[in-house]
Amino acid sequence: MLPPLTPQELVLRQKAFFATGQTKPLAFRLKMLRRLQKVIRQEEAAVLAALQADFRKPPFETFATEVAILQAEIKFMLKHLRQWVKPRRVKASFLNFPSKDYIYPEPYGVALVIGAWNYPFQLTLSPVLGAIAAGCCAILKPSELTPATSQLLARLLQEHFPPDYLTVVQGGPEVSQALLEQPFDKIFFTGSVPVGKIVAQAAAKQLIPVTLELGGKSPCLVDETADLAVAAKRIVWGKFINAGQTCVAPDYLLVQETVAAPLLEHLAATLREFYGPDPAQSPDFARIINDRHFQRLKALLGNVEVYAGGETDARHRYIAPTLLTQVTWEQPLMQEEIFGPLLPVLTFKTLPEAIAQVNARPKPLALYFFSKDKRAKDMVLTQTSSGGACINDTVSHLANPYLPFGGVGTSGHGNYHGKASFDAFSHHKSVLKKPSKPDLPLRYPPYAKKFAWMRKAFKWV
Ligand code: NAD
Repeated sequence: MLPPLTPQELVLRQKAFFATGQTKPLAFRLKMLRRLQKVIRQEEAAVLAALQADFRKPPFETFATEVAILQAEIKFMLKHLRQWVKPRRVKASFLNFPSKDYIYPEPYGVALVIGAWNYPFQLTLSPVLGAIAAGCCAILKPSELTPATSQLLARLLQEHFPPDYLTVVQGGPEVSQALLEQPFDKIFFTGSVPVGKIVAQAAAKQLIPVTLELGGKSPCLVDETADLAVAAKRIVWGKFINAGQTCVAPDYLLVQETVAAPLLEHLAATLREFYGPDPAQSPDFARIINDRHFQRLKALLGNVEVYAGGETDARHRYIAPTLLTQVTWEQPLMQEEIFGPLLPVLTFKTLPEAIAQVNARPKPLALYFFSKDKRAKDMVLTQTSSGGACINDTVSHLANPYLPFGGVGTSGHGNYHGKASFDAFSHHKSVLKKPSKPDLPLRYPPYAKKFAWMRKAFKWV
């Protein structure tokens, strides 16, 4: 057997393949998207099994959040790609008369896609859809924490795509870092804020454009006008899907004091309704990804008041869906992204006070607000900054390909999903086309006597 190629060799081979121009025609891009669509359809059972093996992810959740969401993205791209790839004519400037002006999207070239473990199939492949649509080649580095899914990704790409076009490199931080030293044309990273900084620094060294899909503490606000029963269902769903290991999960609740007690009752009742009296027995509740994260989450449970849940079982890396009260901003729980099934409930008296608490912290990836008050909704949306937001819902904004998905500030920069995925892997080249005649002399030296004309011309702009 031949030794595996080094990161440098892999990139050089993909660069050579890209240089042949084969990835650029629309027909090739559509063919590759259709091929991936078919592979995902055929291998659905293998995807469900891999995620079950990695952290006992319920098949329903795997289907909805890993398989169906990718299929919907592919369908959307197949429908719109023809339009996206076309050079787009824009208005010309009077100063350049006569000219015709265009925007030509062109593929960056060879891309590196580094994935996170929490939605390991979808988060690694979804950016790759953008790379294919844009006409790029890509090397995928899935997370080492989900070995079954990473192995599956490697097999699927190896069986169905030439490695000089798409390939998987498996491994942990060292492998990532070796890849980051290569002369990629684009880097797309999904993961934590600290590693995002490492990736951004590596990209800066070579001035490689980078998209960073990071995390943070996403707040969920509930005011006294909200429908508490519905809010509880949507909050519990968004928080405890994937056992809370979701980048856009509500990290903590900020509830108006007057409705904190009834909302807690609704939340606890919803937990029983969704997961039964003992969630450890529910087939619909996932496990914590590894021992390190289990211990980290268990430590966060110390010194806080458990309102519901709180049970843990190290052997199965199980942490019950848990509601926590009497929480203060100073506690460790409120200093880092929780990324697990612990939901701290804090209270506020007035909405401006809640907004001030949100704005005193780094800009989150998502913000949720439950309310029936139109003015209050406008206030929250216009006076806070977050990657995305939902009113009277959680998490769902990421499932609409018409909405670009991404962070702001420390929760990331750049967007993807739908057209934004195509754009993330495309350079939008400005093109001005001019005929040889007429060749108006106004801009050429000698400038004597032309200044007054030039001033007049600028008035038309
Ligand atoms: P992580 O940052 O630990 O790992 C992400 C990837 O980076 C993995 O492939 C890993 O191998 C690699 N990596 C780890 N250390 C590295 C290093 N020192 N140098 C180079 N590469 C390195 O993140 P994670 O634990 O896999 O995922 C959880 C985090 O990701 C959370 O913060 C979550 O909010 C965030 N996240 C964000 C999104 C989003 O779309 N914005 C989606 C999912 C997860």
